[in-house]
Amino acid sequence: MVAAKYDVIIIGAGAAGLGVGAVLAKKEHKKVLVVERENYIGGRLLSFVGKKNSVSVLGKDLDAKGFEKEISSVYARMCRATPDLDTMISQGLLDGYTFEAGIHATFWGDKGRLAYLLNFVDKPIPMPGNEGFTILDPKTDTWYELNKGGTYAWMSPEANAETKKLLKEMATMTMKDAEKYELISFGQWLNERTQNREVYEYLAGLASIHMVTGEPNLMPAADFIKFMVAAKDIGMNLVTGSTGLIGQPGFIDIGVKFAEAIRENGGEILLDTPVEEVIIADKKAKGVKINTGSGSQTVEADQVVCTVPIKHVFGMIPESNFPADFVKTVKERFWGVGMLSGFIGLKRNIIEDKDVNPKTWVLVPSIIKDTMGYIGDVDIIMFMSSNYNPELAPPGKSLWIYSIALVDKETVDDSKVQPVIDEVTRIMQRNFPSYLEDMEWQLWTASSEGYGICPPIGVRRPDVKSPWVEGLFFAGDGYGERRWGMGLDSAIHSAILCLDAVTGKNYSEQIIPEYHR
Ligand SMILES: Cc1cc2nc3c(=O)[nH]c(=O)nc-3n(C[C@H](O)[C@H](O)[C@H](O)COP(=O)(O)OP(=O)(O)OC[C@H]3O[C@@H](n4cnc5c(N)ncnc54)[C@H](O)[C@@H]3O)c2cc1C
Repeated sequence: MVAAKYDVIIIGAGAAGLGVGAVLAKKEHKKVLVVERENYIGGRLLSFVGKKNSVSVLGKDLDAKGFEKEISSVYARMCRATPDLDTMISQGLLDGYTFEAGIHATFWGDKGRLAYLLNFVDKPIPMPGNEGFTILDPKTDTWYELNKGGTYAWMSPEANAETKKLLKEMATMTMKDAEKYELISFGQWLNERTQNREVYEYLAGLASIHMVTGEPNLMPAADFIKFMVAAKDIGMNLVTGSTGLIGQPGFIDIGVKFAEAIRENGGEILLDTPVEEVIIADKKAKGVKINTGSGSQTVEADQVVCTVPIKHVFGMIPESNFPADFVKTVKERFWGVGMLSGFIGLKRNIIEDKDVNPKTWVLVPSIIKDTMGYIGDVDIIMFMSSNYNPELAPPGKSLWIYSIALVDKETVDDSKVQPVIDEVTRIMQRNFPSYLEDMEWQLWTASSEGYGICPPIGVRRPDVKSPWVEGLFFAGDGYGERRWGMGLDSAIHSAILCLDAVTGKNYSEQIIPEYHR
């Protein structure tokens, strides 16, 4: 039974909404209501556990149809399944595997903002990090495992020196220095400093891992540079601990833990309940109209936090509450950071065939060039997730993951997606001749907005506090003028900035160290 009035209503039970709710309930003792349209918590933290002849989301069993429906909730579609999904599930091929429809790995693992926020609400989760970083050159099929401070063996001595110089320039900046590059692209930043394609392509590949964008001309330079600035303070580098994974039940556990913190402190979470409208009168937020399944109901609150990506909010917050040019820019120029993901169930731990750390990340840069009609060069990131957490695959088997950055319009276009999967398969067959025999199943999804919605270069993200409606706030991976980075950790950053705005306090200082702010 929903009460008539709450202190704060949060729209969306994703990482950002639940993170905001957990702190408001536990530390501020606010009466919190989180309203979620889907029937699971977590939003884009959607993990599946294969169980005999089904896959389950937090104990709820799904067949092939149910599975496809759930992945559509994270803006994703199935683009290849071998064998077909029905066979895969009904024959129990997924039994014992845990895999994600959304996030695959979180930046900085247990040193990231996410870990700090989970600890702040007394809900820590272990996040073992990568040990090793390898470049696979797709032209020669050579594997180069990087050593911290070592040389880039595939580059000329001049390119090595220039790459190191530019990395040093970034790493020795302060956050304030990096802010100068907020409104230019990383492509421009690179072009102003190097003419050397080897240098450009390596740094662009490095940036694409962090920014999940193959084309440096689409990335705000400051966002990537700040990753490099923070790295030295965190004591992290690409080779160790730059990313972390979560064991069973997968990343959705983050949602579970934040939800516990909300409920244990008197907060409520409504699932299966879309918000139809944010009620605004006299430029003030008054509450929300929700769809209870049997009709609409109004719930009041003086503060409303919306975590729905900006391109989707105009349905629930009438456009008249924003300046017309803002609405036009969002509709016409904001774009979706997409992600092609592959999950491969293997009979054995194939990475052991290579002389690299089994917990290495592997970057395969420029497998397809932008000249083939893609927005940027296509790079692959791949790793064996079951080497981090053996419980992610059944005993004796392994789970291999691909993350491939594409933009929204590429992810919905099979003439772009399928050639990428085919090229990945060819590269793997050359490097692991028994790849197809070792593969028991493969499942590929393409998400058009996996990493949220980005403004074009030169335009700032919408901030966490509406300048136009009192009591209306935003959180999530597409919000926050001061937020930087990408993906889950940036969604958590926005949540912390939103907490500052909602409470008027300095939660940023309390929760995260200076280099994360
Ligand atoms: C395929 C894929 C791969 C990814 N890989 C990574 C990765 O490797 N590393 C990384 O850091 N990040 C990754 N991400 C991104 C990461 O998952 C997101 O950045 C993060 O989870 C976003 O959290 P959020 O709270 O901002 O948004 P969301 O999780 O989208 O939360 C918004 C919530 O609002 C709900 N909602 C929408 N409309 C309504 C309505 N009308 N009423 C009520 N509720 C509503 C939604 O259902 C959702 O639950 C990936 C995402 C995807 C999809």
